[in-house]
Amino acid sequence: MNSPWWLLVLFAAVACGYLLGRLDGRKRQSRKLDGLSQQYLQGLNFLLNEQPDKAVEVLVTSLDVTEQTLDTHLSLARLFRKRGEFDRATRIHSMLLESGKLPAPRRDDVELELARDYSAGGLLDRAEMILQQMLERGSRHTDAVRRALMAIFEQESDWHNALSIGDSLLKNDDSIAPILAHYCCELAQRMQKAAERNAARRTLRRALAYDKNCVRASIMLGGLELADANHEAAVKAWRRVRYQNPDFFGLVLDDLESAYEAQGKGEAFTRYLAKVCVEQPSTPVILKLAARLRERYGDKAASLFIADYMKSHPTVRGLSQIIDMNLERADGSAREHLGILKSLTTRLLSEQATFQCDQCGFEAHRMHWQCPTCKKWGSLRPLLDQEVSA
Ligand SMILES: [Zn+2]
Repeated sequence: MNSPWWLLVLFAAVACGYLLGRLDGRKRQSRKLDGLSQQYLQGLNFLLNEQPDKAVEVLVTSLDVTEQTLDTHLSLARLFRKRGEFDRATRIHSMLLESGKLPAPRRDDVELELARDYSAGGLLDRAEMILQQMLERGSRHTDAVRRALMAIFEQESDWHNALSIGDSLLKNDDSIAPILAHYCCELAQRMQKAAERNAARRTLRRALAYDKNCVRASIMLGGLELADANHEAAVKAWRRVRYQNPDFFGLVLDDLESAYEAQGKGEAFTRYLAKVCVEQPSTPVILKLAARLRERYGDKAASLFIADYMKSHPTVRGLSQIIDMNLERADGSAREHLGILKSLTTRLLSEQATFQCDQCGFEAHRMHWQCPTCKKWGSLRPLLDQEVSA
């Protein structure tokens, strides 16, 4: 523990107590100031001897728990929690509750904070118990309590309870609907693993009812339908992705192609891709169409098609594909040069992240529906055209 931070907190809290004490009249002020000065010195001694726990005790007891000083105690505890010192935050909140001096409405504030300490420190059972009691008693922070409980159920992967509490929050705050859609997807994933496909299907439809733009639900629904050989339904689910969020459309192109091919509708898929290329061109769609054109018209036509698009949207992936298509036909030194370029683009592609969180900037090579760093749901996006350009 470094001393400057401690000194700052102690000084701020004691100064606050001192100023508040001044409001209570002269005699009282003088008596209190003497008391504070002694305790302040005592606190400093504990700090110099690197005994932060004793210093906390001095600080907490040096300020009477009143309506006026309560916020100082709460701020200090919040600081501890923010620094990851959960034990100290818990201790301050517990001492406040045990002091018996808290005005009834403020007791609610402190209990909520204590539950947050336990939750942040990983003691989820204790946090849950406090929050459930607050709900039963009728807390004045009902929505905050529900939100904290929902976060706990989320950490425990208890999706049924997370959804049930989320439903009760929804009428006051519809911004949580996309989060509830992800909870449904998590639940559906579990059902799918347990071979409960119909239950998984219903749960994914529930996800889409919460958030009609839930790309994840459509991608999963397509997968379920494909597994049951319902190719037409799979195509329908995956084609929806383009309208929900075009950035994700590239992720389903291979599966979409399989579902078309399984119905013997390869030609229809090529026509569909051509239509998408006109309406919403993107590197993945252009490359997929080029691969299909290559089968029919050969390498030259396909690479010219990509090159045409690359004039306005230069990307490493596009360049790599053109090199591939020309490599087989090249010979001599041209082949050698293309080989060097190919290894260069392959290295560039392997080094570049393919997904990025738009909240915290976290980068990954595979999709995460909840950001591992900032814990936000649905914040990772595939990096497309300009992002992967060199
Ligand atoms: Zn993030």
